[in-house]
Amino acid sequence: MTHPTVFVLLDACRSRYLEEGKLPRMAAFAQRSLYAPGMRPGAGFCERSEILTGASAARTGNFAAYGFDPQASPYRAQSLLLRGLGRLPGRIGAKVATRLTRRLAWRRGITMPPHRIPVAALERFRLTEDARDHFEPRGFAVDSLADRLREAGRTWSWHFTAVGVPNGDDDDRLDALEAALSARRDFYLAYVETIDAEGHRLGPDSPEMDETLGRFDDWFMDRVERWMAAIPGLQLAIVGDHGMTSVDRHLNVLDHARSAARRLGLKFGPNRDVECFLDSTMARFWFAHRSMIAPFRDALEAGEMAECGFVVDRALRLEHEIPATGRLYGDLLWWADPGVLIWPDYFHRATDRVLGMHGYDPEHIDSRGFAIIHAPSVAPGRRENRELRDLAPTLAALLQIEAPRDSQGRDLAALPEMVGA
Ligand SMILES: [Zn+2]
Repeated sequence: MTHPTVFVLLDACRSRYLEEGKLPRMAAFAQRSLYAPGMRPGAGFCERSEILTGASAARTGNFAAYGFDPQASPYRAQSLLLRGLGRLPGRIGAKVATRLTRRLAWRRGITMPPHRIPVAALERFRLTEDARDHFEPRGFAVDSLADRLREAGRTWSWHFTAVGVPNGDDDDRLDALEAALSARRDFYLAYVETIDAEGHRLGPDSPEMDETLGRFDDWFMDRVERWMAAIPGLQLAIVGDHGMTSVDRHLNVLDHARSAARRLGLKFGPNRDVECFLDSTMARFWFAHRSMIAPFRDALEAGEMAECGFVVDRALRLEHEIPATGRLYGDLLWWADPGVLIWPDYFHRATDRVLGMHGYDPEHIDSRGFAIIHAPSVAPGRRENRELRDLAPTLAALLQIEAPRDSQGRDLAALPEMVGA
């Protein structure tokens, strides 16, 4: 039997925090481990898919959390009611509609959170990455670490995250993991949200964030040291899945899109000529007829919209391995430049404080995450410029199981020192 492996996902813990000494104890631990700074995530928002399968968004089909799929929306049966709520006038009306929708979702057992998606648009969308339980058989459209673990008869302990599955806070999850260590499972997965939440709120380059990181470093490394003392030979993978970029400009894409539609004589809104979904860094559009796409694209590629971002063309879709089949992720995709926040978006209140965001160009240094692999069988060393998809084969090697069959990554421990530098 192998030693237990603990995998901790530190959401949005960017490589720069470690490299710039903001997490001193973790950085010292990285120097005594196999350390991959500047790890590149895939484009989009589905890092858990990438980690657990080792495959690109184009292969898993998971790119953004929400996809356009009117036939499969969990809100489809409620469409009449939601359309009615969507007609309530003014800001108060919108507030009431949001509150009632949340109650409706809870009553009907709908796990897709309505967030700030206009209620009349809910029936047009469904969850993508979180449509299935990742640890059920065939949790992904491609082979995954969970499938390999199951087939090899390995055991796991889940302290991770999934949309619609309440699982406590960081203390709850890591306490539960620690309590479960004595059960000697093969694989422990834990999710830590603090760095993401605080990075969004405080901004990743602020003095307040530096203080938060300093406190976090002690809170987290105390735990790591306890685990290592409790289980001799424990194997650890500590991963920042992507970065966080300081927000320096808000852009009202909704206004621009509405006025572009008006200029072209098109109706804008759910189930009209043009409809949209606003992630914080990407705006996606769908059209009633294909002939509407080109004129709308031209209208978007002008003025402030052109200053702040760009339309993703076919070549960029291929380069970033964005799923191109079907309409799930938009007939047209507009991507914000680093630091530009789409505001309002479908995930925040107008009064929320958002000084940091992710989901920008993965090549940018602020977008990069990292991996620290610490195990008796793995020699310390440094791997530059690797990719998040390397995690699946790296974890598989620690667990002594086969890598997921659709993985495009490489086992970090098996790579020579300077590969990719
Ligand atoms: Zn986040």
